[in-house]
Amino acid sequence: MRVMEPILYRDTRGLDPKPRTFTEAVIAGIAEGGGLYVPERVPELTLAQIAGSADLTYAQRATDIFLRFGIDVPDERVAELMELAYGAAFDTTSVAPVVEVDSGTHVLELWHGPTSAFKDMALQCMPLFFSEAISMRLAAGRKLDDYLVLVATSGDTGKAALEGFADRDHTRVVVFYPVDGVSDIQRRQMVTQHGGNVAVFGVRGNFDDCQTAVKQAFTDPEFARTLHERHGLTMSSANSINWGRLMPQIVYYISAYADMIAVGAVRPGEPIDVCVPTGNFGNILAGYYAKRMGVPIGRLLCASNENHVLTDFLGTGAYDISHRRFVTTPSPSMDILVSSNLERLLFELSGRPEDVRHWQEALTAGGRFLVDRHTFEGMREHFAGDWVTNDESLAVIRRVWEDHGYLLDPHTAVAWEVAERLATDDPMLVVSTAHWAKFGEDAYKALNNLDYADPLPAEARGMSGVDLVECVARLAPGAAPIPRNLATLGEQPVRFEDVVDPGREGVETAVTAWLEQG
Ligand SMILES: *Cc1c(COP(=O)(O)O)cnc(C)c1O
Repeated sequence: MRVMEPILYRDTRGLDPKPRTFTEAVIAGIAEGGGLYVPERVPELTLAQIAGSADLTYAQRATDIFLRFGIDVPDERVAELMELAYGAAFDTTSVAPVVEVDSGTHVLELWHGPTSAFKDMALQCMPLFFSEAISMRLAAGRKLDDYLVLVATSGDTGKAALEGFADRDHTRVVVFYPVDGVSDIQRRQMVTQHGGNVAVFGVRGNFDDCQTAVKQAFTDPEFARTLHERHGLTMSSANSINWGRLMPQIVYYISAYADMIAVGAVRPGEPIDVCVPTGNFGNILAGYYAKRMGVPIGRLLCASNENHVLTDFLGTGAYDISHRRFVTTPSPSMDILVSSNLERLLFELSGRPEDVRHWQEALTAGGRFLVDRHTFEGMREHFAGDWVTNDESLAVIRRVWEDHGYLLDPHTAVAWEVAERLATDDPMLVVSTAHWAKFGEDAYKALNNLDYADPLPAEARGMSGVDLVECVARLAPGAAPIPRNLATLGEQPVRFEDVVDPGREGVETAVTAWLEQG
């Protein structure tokens, strides 16, 4: 069943002269000239089609959406890949369940995947299509390198990328994490990773040191030549600006609305508000595309932590990081100053790639840009936002546990608070992006009435991440159980112990030594 003509992709800055197919956009990641790929047209669904998807499995829902985009992978193969992506790796058959936590407020749980954070929703899917795209080209007789995916991570992305790419054909993945910047649980998740095509290295320093070193290696032509000539490898980044990561995220908004109709939480066509804890703007942007496809979403509520550049942007139309200090928060996956997927929204609302290019150039050169009135009004039509302090985040975790017996992680807590502040009579869908147990220390502090900056009390200090999480589970009986993958972390053998110096050389030497070892 080929539902639609293939949709091609253009770049947001208008610098790539050729429209690309889906698999071309996935392999390229970013367009020449720095723009991001966006679909030339967005397929539309009727309400009956949306409601009807409630009868399908999650894998079938995802297949249906990908086929409507007319992607350049055979239909049966799309269905097979979706069964692989959204099957046994998730701890619930519904994959992305919607639960009612308060009357009128539902939570969309996106953390039932193998790494207990929402990055799995995209990274269980995207590497399959990445590897398929390479296989298709090889089968057609093209000569092609395998791909080396380099990742610098502050926690969630590294593990989700390892789990998504492990043992996928034609790919290898190397993850670098800052030894001074990830939690005990996050580190253990990465250094125990299985798979013959993966490696993990600690970098001495913080996330910034780590990211800079990986970027330098990524753009070093000498290193690229060595990889190609000696190992038949081309570098790729597979980060959240890849369209292959964005498209799978559209599916769960459609899926959630269908489920809400099915349980009578909304009447078909009744608008809902959606509140999303936002960092790089990928998740909430997928909600915007779902709205364009026909999901009755009223407002998209953008929830931020103390790094609230997006809240200010939605208020003023000025994106300004020229004097902004980076703040550490209990929701580290939202600690972002340059929100890279915002560029796609600016393109969709302004329709003018030359404007997008100028804004991005101004941001790079002077740390700020101001959008025009038309684009600003478009933004205000669909989006609203607010931000939450560190101490408020922990207070929300405590309050929602006491009032509703539901334990939030600190990212979802930010969204919960913003949803409450901006609520109207419309049903609210709060998007939950991590299992509480991934951030056990914050849950522990919240349930013990501590502030974010307070040290852990003596009895909890020095506990391993897993022990602390078990302690929280005893304090909060009835909270979602600790996922098996996290509970057994202490028993998994450590496979990767190497720590390297920051800088380009540390990264390059680590990668070449690993490749030469076979
Ligand atoms: C990545 C992440 C976010 C932010 O999502 P964006 O798509 O970058 O806006 C929020 N919460 C968690 C737990 C994450 O891992």
